[in-house]
Amino acid sequence: MSAKEEQASGPVMVLSCPISLDYAYSAGQSASRFLRAIAEGKLLGQRCPVDGRVYFPSRGSCPMHGVTFGDDAVELSDKGTIVTFSIVRVPSQNIALPLPYITVNVLLDGADTILIHVLDAKLEDVHMGMRVQAVWKPREEWTTSTANILYFRPIDEPDAKYETYKEHI
Ligand SMILES: [Zn+2]
Repeated sequence: MSAKEEQASGPVMVLSCPISLDYAYSAGQSASRFLRAIAEGKLLGQRCPVDGRVYFPSRGSCPMHGVTFGDDAVELSDKGTIVTFSIVRVPSQNIALPLPYITVNVLLDGADTILIHVLDAKLEDVHMGMRVQAVWKPREEWTTSTANILYFRPIDEPDAKYETYKEHI
């Protein structure tokens, strides 16, 4: 049996099958409030009434305690601390940075949950505890979308102490 015949009769190992799904997503009260705020350049989280943890973005209820957050919102800074990071070497849609780029888990100041985003920095500079700030699109381009934030960028502040973010690793 030739190599070609063997290949033709062997098991199929890889099947390329592009798939795409479109969703009509109803944002609901909590996400609507969050998205309207981000259209104004504000980052809104919500505080759990049981333990006071601030969720960002909020889904309107606490996944730990099963209680709703109500209408109270907490405005957060667009500065934060890198908790963890990854170097990405494969292309991805809707990323404003060239390869390789850095994805980061950012703990925004005042939040108790992490935000996953990208960082514009030299690969050799990124590290846990690094202080960063959001870089926004020009004001006239803001919409009700998290894409208003293009990426994060390091800022000239001392690294956060490990104790301040270790529970989020
Ligand atoms: Zn809770």
